[in-house]
Amino acid sequence: MKIKVLGCYGNYIGKYRATSFLINDTILLDAGTITEALDDEALKKIKQVLITHTHIDHVKGLFPFVDELVMMGDYSIELISVKQVLEIISQNLLNNLIWPDFTVIPSEHKGIIKPHEIPMEQVSSINSITVEPVLMTHTVFTVGYIVKEGNKGFMFTADTGPTKRFWAVARETKGIEFIIADVSFPNRLDRLAKISGHMTTAMLVEHIDRYGLGTMPIYVTHIKPIFLEEIHRELDALKRDNIKLLRQGSTITV
Ligand SMILES: [Zn+2]
Ligand SMILES: [Zn+2]
Repeated sequence: MKIKVLGCYGNYIGKYRATSFLINDTILLDAGTITEALDDEALKKIKQVLITHTHIDHVKGLFPFVDELVMMGDYSIELISVKQVLEIISQNLLNNLIWPDFTVIPSEHKGIIKPHEIPMEQVSSINSITVEPVLMTHTVFTVGYIVKEGNKGFMFTADTGPTKRFWAVARETKGIEFIIADVSFPNRLDRLAKISGHMTTAMLVEHIDRYGLGTMPIYVTHIKPIFLEEIHRELDALKRDNIKLLRQGSTITV
């Protein structure tokens, strides 16, 4: 499995882009960045978009992407998530007020966006990969994912504050080669992290140690760009080689 990091920051400003990972050239995991990073030929290859939650920095890429698909001709995508997330999208984004309802455009039977609901904590197949949503602790309904191809894969926390289930599942799941985990704020902003449903460096370490994942390779994501240097220093001070920053533009292979 090939994972290209189109964006991995907790805000989009300057060169820093919002969360989006392109898997095997055809599946997007979150939609914070699409058209800024991919040309039309690459856009045409995307068939599925898997969503963790409805915050704008994780879905905003859908709008220019779908618009471009309309211009290019006969294309459609499956929009995949759990029921609760798809409902929020349908009621609040594709509501003909914020954006047209592309599930019935160009026609009721042939929408460009085809919603595809998947069950919580069950394995669903998408092309060559499988995905399993796990409930996270954020300010809106949010799922993290176990993503596998064959018996190997990775896990993604999405946006999350301190949480239990994800880490317990991570401890039990075989074949996980790394975890991509939210660290949005430096340790001094512990309170802000908790209120906004995110983690600090110290919270991440506390969780992985508590769940016996202290040596699991971890890629830190969703850093607020303004705190990038500060969080980098905090990670360096840990002296743990297994915890690294996720790099925008990089490709990870499982
Ligand atoms: Zn976010
Ligand atoms: Zn969020």
